Amino acid sequence: MKKKLQDCLIIGSGICGLMAAHRLTKQGMVVTILDKGRGAGGRIATRRLATSGGIEAVADYGAQFVTVSDRKLKPFMDEWRKSGILKLWYQDEKKNDRYIGIHGLRDITRHLARNLTVHQQKKVIQISHEGNWIVKNTDDSCFQADVLILTPPLPQSLELLRLGNIPLEKSLLSELQKIRYTKCIAIMGIPKKPGLIPSPGGLQLREGPVQWIADNQKKGISPHCPSITIHAEHQFSEEYYEKPDEEIVSVLGNAVKDWISGEWETVKIHRWKYSRPVTFFPELSLLLRNPGPLVLAGDAFSNARVESAALSGLDAADKLLQH
Ligand SMILES: Cc1cc2nc3c(=O)[nH]c(=O)nc-3n(C[C@H](O)[C@H](O)[C@H](O)COP(=O)(O)OP(=O)(O)OC[C@H]3O[C@@H](n4cnc5c(N)ncnc54)[C@H](O)[C@@H]3O)c2cc1C
Repeated sequence: MKKKLQDCLIIGSGICGLMAAHRLTKQGMVVTILDKGRGAGGRIATRRLATSGGIEAVADYGAQFVTVSDRKLKPFMDEWRKSGILKLWYQDEKKNDRYIGIHGLRDITRHLARNLTVHQQKKVIQISHEGNWIVKNTDDSCFQADVLILTPPLPQSLELLRLGNIPLEKSLLSELQKIRYTKCIAIMGIPKKPGLIPSPGGLQLREGPVQWIADNQKKGISPHCPSITIHAEHQFSEEYYEKPDEEIVSVLGNAVKDWISGEWETVKIHRWKYSRPVTFFPELSLLLRNPGPLVLAGDAFSNARVESAALSGLDAADKLLQH
């Protein structure tokens, strides 16, 4: 007789890991999430900056908005809207609704994490299977469970499997290894002069080194202070990834001088090594049965979108519940 799966470890407190945990917990499984970052969210990332006078500015520097086209996510959206976390931003040219966090997008993941067991600042360095899954972290802490879900960007999950000598069938491994991500350099800052980005506060640029620029005050998430987010285009991000911050700020600032003056009261850079996958695995998640139940999930299993990563997490949970 099959052993009933009772507990689950999830690596990653991004939207995928949190959605999987939410569903499994509801079905009575004991779930523990481990993440190397300081707060839940992964690529849903919001940062607070301050002026010299102590006024707070807010900037989303990962995902900028959320779309919802699948009915499965509607109950979550309704709850987030009712809880005052999410609001409609605007409708794009294809009439798709774009939603934003009222105080930044990371509130979604914070909200999801509040009733879950999430250990932040736990970087997993080793996984092994000896009767059950054993996960070791850089601080020497160790966790065990019947089931493991890996939600980091796929190259990082594959590296953990390689280090743990967890075998994958050759053709499957080669298919997974083909999935590549683009890099993205993000700038967030408080400009010295107000920007000229038109309402509703986000511009997708088609040419040059900048792909996206947002005025977070116009968006409504930084009510007390102007704040700007810039996302560099992927080829620029690849080329400038190792370059000094000042050089990046100068080149990107110059590229958007029609909308902002390029003078900053304060400015920060974040380098996303695995920003978005460019090719995808053809299933929402991948369940492996040997040496023990293991699911690979995340946006590489669907699409480079928050909603797709969320659906991947739900699918991972469903696969385990049916296992
Ligand atoms: C710059 C940028 C802009 C984007 N804009 C949008 C947008 O506007 N709209 C949209 O829908 N999508 C957007 N996306 C895509 C969206 O953010 C992602 O598709 C989605 O957030 C991925 O969620 P995830 O849970 O799969 O992965 P992640 O959010 O990356 O979560 C994986 C987690 O695993 C953790 N982790 C990794 N390795 C380890 C380890 N060894 N030990 C412990 N923890 C580990 C990481 O810390 C991370 O928290 C954007 C992404 C980027 C980078």
